[in-house]
Amino acid sequence: MNDNMTEQNAPKLDSVEDLLSYAFALEQEACDRYVELGELMAAHNNREVSELFKKMAKLEQHHADEIRELMEQKNVKESSSIQYQWSSPEGPETIDLGDLHYLMTPHQALNLALHNEERAFAFFDKIAKNTSDEETRSLAEKFAEEETEHVKWVMEWLTKQAAPEKGWDNDDDPPNLQD
Ligand code: ZN
Repeated sequence: MNDNMTEQNAPKLDSVEDLLSYAFALEQEACDRYVELGELMAAHNNREVSELFKKMAKLEQHHADEIRELMEQKNVKESSSIQYQWSSPEGPETIDLGDLHYLMTPHQALNLALHNEERAFAFFDKIAKNTSDEETRSLAEKFAEEETEHVKWVMEWLTKQAAPEKGWDNDDDPPNLQD
């Protein structure tokens, strides 16, 4: 794990090759986490949120695949020294797989996703702002833009999910007009 890889101190990258290496690590981590969250929500019998996370996992996988392709074209090797890890909304520390299982509600799971999508956006945004290389800037901006989309989706789900959760075990459906 690399503590330097946070939104506060995104590395100053001046080549597309370096950016691709970092982006690949980030997308791969996001994909793995969404797969885990999807399984976790399925275990909690929340099919809707589980499906959302599975969809997000596919999306991040698709990004990772695209980036891998670019890496191959540019002859960039995957680097084991470049890693990216999700962190919890409460602090800058990274989380491990075991911690995920303490997440009991879809709301918490979505909050975790939101936090890390925002972090991913901030990461690419910072790289775009700090770089002196034009090509690196435009690619980092594109990546940041994609993360903005993810932030929006997760936020939408968070608002959908927040309401029913309060009294999910009560029958608080609006009265049926025919009753
Ligand atoms: Zn994302």
